[in-house]
Amino acid sequence: MPLEAIEEKLKRFFGPQYYVNKGKNHKELTPKRYWDDLNYLSAIYPDEKCLWVEFRHIETFDKEVSDFLLNNPDEWLQAATDAISELDFAVHKLPDIRIRVFGLPSDLEVGISKLRDIHMDTFLAIRCIVSKASEVRPAFEKAAFLCQRCGYITIVDQAKDSDTLLEPFAGCENDSCGKKGPFKRVKEGAVTYNHQYLKIQEPLETLRGKQPEFLNVSCSDEIAGIVNAGDKLVITGVLKGRPKTNKDGKLKFLEFIFVANSIEKSDADYENMEIQQDDIEYYKDLSRRGILKDYILGSIAPSIFGLEDVKLGIALQLFGGRPVIMPDGTRKRGDIHILMVGDPGVAKSQLLEFVANFAPRAISFSGKSTSAAGLTGAAVKDELDGKWWIQPGALTLADGGICCADEVEKMKAETLGSIHEALEQQMVHIQKAVKADLWTRTAFLGAANPKYGRYDNYAPIYEQVAHGDAFISRMDLLFVLKDKPNQTFDRKLAKHILQTLRGNNTTTEPKMDLEHFRKCIAYARTNVFPELTDESEEMIIDFFVKTRLSTEGKSDTVPITARTLEAAFRLATAHARMRLSETITEEDAKNAVELLLRNLKEVGVDPETGLMDADIIAAGKSNSQSKKIRDICKIIRDLSESEFSKNRSARYEDILERCSEKKINGAEEIIRKMAEAGDLLRPERGYYKLIT
Ligand code: ADP
Ligand code: MG
Repeated sequence: MPLEAIEEKLKRFFGPQYYVNKGKNHKELTPKRYWDDLNYLSAIYPDEKCLWVEFRHIETFDKEVSDFLLNNPDEWLQAATDAISELDFAVHKLPDIRIRVFGLPSDLEVGISKLRDIHMDTFLAIRCIVSKASEVRPAFEKAAFLCQRCGYITIVDQAKDSDTLLEPFAGCENDSCGKKGPFKRVKEGAVTYNHQYLKIQEPLETLRGKQPEFLNVSCSDEIAGIVNAGDKLVITGVLKGRPKTNKDGKLKFLEFIFVANSIEKSDADYENMEIQQDDIEYYKDLSRRGILKDYILGSIAPSIFGLEDVKLGIALQLFGGRPVIMPDGTRKRGDIHILMVGDPGVAKSQLLEFVANFAPRAISFSGKSTSAAGLTGAAVKDELDGKWWIQPGALTLADGGICCADEVEKMKAETLGSIHEALEQQMVHIQKAVKADLWTRTAFLGAANPKYGRYDNYAPIYEQVAHGDAFISRMDLLFVLKDKPNQTFDRKLAKHILQTLRGNNTTTEPKMDLEHFRKCIAYARTNVFPELTDESEEMIIDFFVKTRLSTEGKSDTVPITARTLEAAFRLATAHARMRLSETITEEDAKNAVELLLRNLKEVGVDPETGLMDADIIAAGKSNSQSKKIRDICKIIRDLSESEFSKNRSARYEDILERCSEKKINGAEEIIRKMAEAGDLLRPERGYYKLIT
């Protein structure tokens, strides 16, 4: 179809007449709506020059017109501007309205890694996350050049979205001069517009562990400066190939640049998952039959044997609590943070890998190789153009999802500090050269190997994860994973692992296929918002009061703080969500509280007194009992490492003797309990050694 015909049709599309189409369902989609918008623009012209047009309106108006847009976007956009310029309005004429088309159907979306030469110069949509955003800078629409010989000013139209400044190559436009300069660039007659570059990457949910690919985007006028690094967007525009320049200008490769026409923010986390009514019925049916939870737990890392509580924690994390906005504007997170601390070889890394690959939006990194800036984001200066960019970190990129961190103990104090701040505030503020606030509504799943190799029951947990004290107090769940020999468990574990290695999948098949599982999470997170009932509230209060009461008068430490209360609320909410229930029942509260209690016992119970001690978990003080235990461990270690030791173990009498020298009371009792707990081995009668 020739361009003139398109322009004629566009005049009708934007024009005043009520356009009646014979087809079905076309009534609401009359061009009338743009007529009103245009008249408004006419009244305020030239303050605003932009008209937003929804793609489906064009498509239902005339398929040929919309097809033309998709295949010849530059011509189409110009034709639309021209068509409007020929219409008459009440106040001003509209000679240079910019049309911004949004709302392309999802089948016109192309992933960044799928862009090929056939996409060049077509109209398409890209779903992405902004990885860098440059400063907004004025760029020339028309540049003015003063001829130094005759004083005449030549105006040169500049190509939009190109970095090179076009000069008056044909020479001075003054007929009586016509010389090739020299010229001086001047302000008079020059026209500028706002311009910004973005660097975008594929959304995390489409990556599943792949390396992201990037694309440069050029934004002008109204859409320059409206997004931040870390924002999730759908950008429509025209893909251009721009010659890649090297020093001698001889490269024949083109570099893609996406010239944005419109930008829509897509904030919903799981927006682009298509959940069918059938799927929802299937989940609801499982939930009614009370087996949805089993199905979910049976689908979390099925190749890993045991670790039921950790898996439950992860399931709750995937479903998530709900954020609460307080009347004063502060925000309480709904994200559940989990840290696993444990002996090597207990499948911590493997669990992380599962979550990182499975969760709809996840990012993973290792504590060994991350910096604070890499996690929370930073302002960085581009080497090429010297402009400042905002570079979001892993936590910002995973906003709305899960951030998986391995080897947390290897993180620097500074890094850990900035993580826990970002996780608690749910936002990071960058204030260097450029200012930006980036969301970090991210759930954290971390794994740490104890600093000294194996987990030491008698040392406070914060000491075993380097720099971890403040960090650890922010965790909703702390799992201690000990690798203790246990015949029955070991036999089952060995069988499970060997069966998997032999390729027998019956033991490791997920109960629900992972695509269903993912959709179930997406559905629950976007549709289910459970509320506490009076009974479930009472149950959580009870847990809080009773647990704190357990130490009343016996110790000057508290077993749990109000933070644990919030954790209980989040876990109970997530548990209800996992059942697709709009109310948090007593059952949900009970499950949450019991998980927390088991969790507290694992890490916080003073092995001597049986009392729970939040100081051990969080604050960084240990009480006298655990100090005694550590002293005894040291004595045993020293004795068994001395050159007189027998079988690298310590003689019971020698231990007791040293204990009395050091005035450690009750050593017999402590040693007996340690042996019972499996932390001491008795290689032969009268001898002890540490299990490490
Ligand atoms: P970690 O990170 O805790 O040091 P890994 O995740 O690297 O441990 O696990 C070590 C290996 O042991 C993995 O190959 C894992 O499959 C296996 N393994 C350990 N515990 C289990 C388990 N409970 N079920 C299945 N495999 C396990
Ligand atoms: Mg590991």
